[in-house]
Amino acid sequence: MTIIELFEVFSSDDRCRELLERLRWPNGPECPRCFGKVVRLTDRAKLLYCKECDYQFSVTSGSIFHDSHLPLIKWFTATHLLCEAKKGMSALQIKRTLGMSYKTAWYLCHRIRAAMATAEKGMLEGVIEMDETYVGGKYKGPGAKAYRLVNKEIVIGIKQRGGDLRFFKSEDVKSGTLARYIKDNVSKECEVIVTDELTSYPGAVKQSGIDGLRHETVNHAAGIYADGEITTNGIESAFSLLKRGIVGSWHRVSAKHLPAYLEEMTFRFNRRNSKTLFLDTLRHMVTADPLTFEKLTADKESVA
Ligand SMILES: [Zn+2]
Repeated sequence: MTIIELFEVFSSDDRCRELLERLRWPNGPECPRCFGKVVRLTDRAKLLYCKECDYQFSVTSGSIFHDSHLPLIKWFTATHLLCEAKKGMSALQIKRTLGMSYKTAWYLCHRIRAAMATAEKGMLEGVIEMDETYVGGKYKGPGAKAYRLVNKEIVIGIKQRGGDLRFFKSEDVKSGTLARYIKDNVSKECEVIVTDELTSYPGAVKQSGIDGLRHETVNHAAGIYADGEITTNGIESAFSLLKRGIVGSWHRVSAKHLPAYLEEMTFRFNRRNSKTLFLDTLRHMVTADPLTFEKLTADKESVA
């Protein structure tokens, strides 16, 4: 769907609401509190009413749209833009494009991201590539080289060859930590995991408890980058997309919100060939719990 088609199809708040109702309640509206039958208060009105528990609500109540005063078409447009932008889009760009304050745009983007994060993630299968990278870090003063890693956040990437991607913000790259990511994301039937020669990986693969998981390493130091199936090229190109997103679109990402950006990036990447990415995103938005501004900004390093 192009942005022109989006404006044609969703020309009014009612049209947007109709779609959200179909996505939230495929079998017709029901009460979010008691799951009872509901009536519409007036014809074509947005309000629904449950007699059983005397509760009045709309399709956006108790969802990521909760308490928003923005017209739904702005929500739909922002969602469309985020879905189409492979490298992500900054709140500043959304602010300019949609004509809203920076704070509103920032909060809007984070709510869409929070909805994306609720998507189910299956276990990865087949050939797995795993790698670690360092992102962020603006410190360039004296001793910057020594601070190279202190200054940055660690991102662990796991990718099924030809399949889904997972990113995680990690505290360290110790064997035990990496083992947990393998255990939580890699299927017990997996054949082989390819990593670089970081010394934590052999222990991590062992500790993951996956019987018969073969561990292959790519020797980057020796300049060998792809030996048949023994390559980490897939996860490395995913990292380069992430870095282009951070440098080119988001400009700066605080450590606190990094996991949210990682969720956005992987959600979009894993649906890169899907024709229903936009609808899928809206469906998560209308079924996800609200994210209040207070919760999002609960501590001081938050607004970035
Ligand atoms: Zn009810």
